[in-house]
Amino acid sequence: MTQKQLLAIAKRHGTPVVVIDHDVIRRNYATFRRRLPKVQAYYAVKANPAPEIIRTLYRAGASFDVASLPEFMMVHENIQHLPAKERQSFIWDKIIYANPIKPKETLEALDEYKPLLTYDNLDELRKIRRYAPHAGLVLRLRVPNTGSMVELSSKFGCDTGEAVDLILEAFRIGLVVEGLSFHVGSQCTNFDNFVQALNIAAAVMREARSRGHEIKILDIGGGFPVPYDARVKPFPVLARKINSEIGRLFAHDIEILAEPGRFLVATAATAVARIIGKAFRDGKTCYYVDDSVYHTFSGIVFDHCQYRLKAFKKGETEICTVFGQTCDGMDAIVQSEELPHLEIDDLLYSENIGAYSNASATHFNGFEPAQVVHVNE
Ligand code: PLP
Repeated sequence: MTQKQLLAIAKRHGTPVVVIDHDVIRRNYATFRRRLPKVQAYYAVKANPAPEIIRTLYRAGASFDVASLPEFMMVHENIQHLPAKERQSFIWDKIIYANPIKPKETLEALDEYKPLLTYDNLDELRKIRRYAPHAGLVLRLRVPNTGSMVELSSKFGCDTGEAVDLILEAFRIGLVVEGLSFHVGSQCTNFDNFVQALNIAAAVMREARSRGHEIKILDIGGGFPVPYDARVKPFPVLARKINSEIGRLFAHDIEILAEPGRFLVATAATAVARIIGKAFRDGKTCYYVDDSVYHTFSGIVFDHCQYRLKAFKKGETEICTVFGQTCDGMDAIVQSEELPHLEIDDLLYSENIGAYSNASATHFNGFEPAQVVHVNE
C-alpha cells in the first residue's frame, strides 16, 4: 500500500483502521506453493480469521488449519459447496483440526464431519475414541523450538520415545493414525528446527512401518518466518532446506501439508492510528494514539512481536514513545521510535501487522477494535 492510498482510506473510514491487501495474501500463497511445491498449505485461521481472507485463500487453492469448533464452522460455512458424496475427502483435503486438546463437546459436534484431528497423549486418544470415533488422527510430535519467537513445545507434542506406543494404542482401540505433525515454533528463524523435526518425524515413521503401520500424511506445521526485519533469512533458503530433507527422508508418495499462518497474512496488513494526545515526559516526547496493545497491537503481548511505527509527515526526527489509548500503564506500543515532530490529529502507520494482531484485539476500556478494510479482494 502506498502512503497516499493509506491516507485516503483513513480519511474515508476514520481511524483506527487496519487495511488488508488481498493481492499480498495471494502473492504470499503463490510464493509458498512455488517454493514448496510438494506441500499443500493449510492456512492457520487463528492468525487472522477474517472470512474475507478465508474466501480469498480458498479461491487461490488453500486448505485450512482450525483450532476450535467456531473456527471449524466458519471455514466450513465459507468454503463448502460440494456434493455430499465428495464431502468426506473434501473435509480432509481442506480442513485439519490441529489443536491437540479438545473439549468433549467439540469432539461430539465434529464427529459427523469425520474430521482429521491431532492428538498428543493417551487421555486425548481415549476422549476421541469415545466422542469422535469417526475421526482420522494425526499424532503431534514434540520438536525443538529453539530461537522461535513463540515457543510451543512446552505445551504440545509427545516425546519421540512415546510416539510409536501412541500410534499402536490408537490402532488397538479401533482408530486410524493417518499422519504425523509438528510445529517448530512461530516465527522460526532458526531453520535447523525444521531439519531436526523432519528427521524426528522420519524416524517415527520408519519405526511405525516396522510395527506394521504405514503413515500416509506428514504435516510440517507453521513457523515460516516473516521478514519483520532484515535479519530474517529469506524464505527460499528455508524452502531449499525443507525440500532437500523431504526428498532425502520420505517416500515420494507421502502427502505433505503445512499450516502457515503468519507467513500468508502478516505482510498483507497495515494499521493506521491517529494521534489523540501528546506530552513531554522525562525529557522525551510521548504520543498517545487511538489504538492500543489491547487492540490491533495485541501482538506485542500475545505474539512477542514488536512493530515499527512510521509517520506520514517528513522532517527531522527524535526518539519518542508511543502509548496506546487505554488507561493501563503497560499500554506502550513502542518505547523508542524515531519520529518527526507531530501534532494531535496527525496519523501514524504500522506495516506487517496482519497476523496475531486484530485477531486477538479486545474491547478493554470500552474501546472497540479497529475497523478492518479489505482491498483488492
Ligand atoms: N499450527 C498450529 C498447531 C499452531 O499452533 C500455529 C500457531 O500457533 C500455527 C499452525 C501457525 O503458526 P505460524 O503462524 O507460525 O505459521
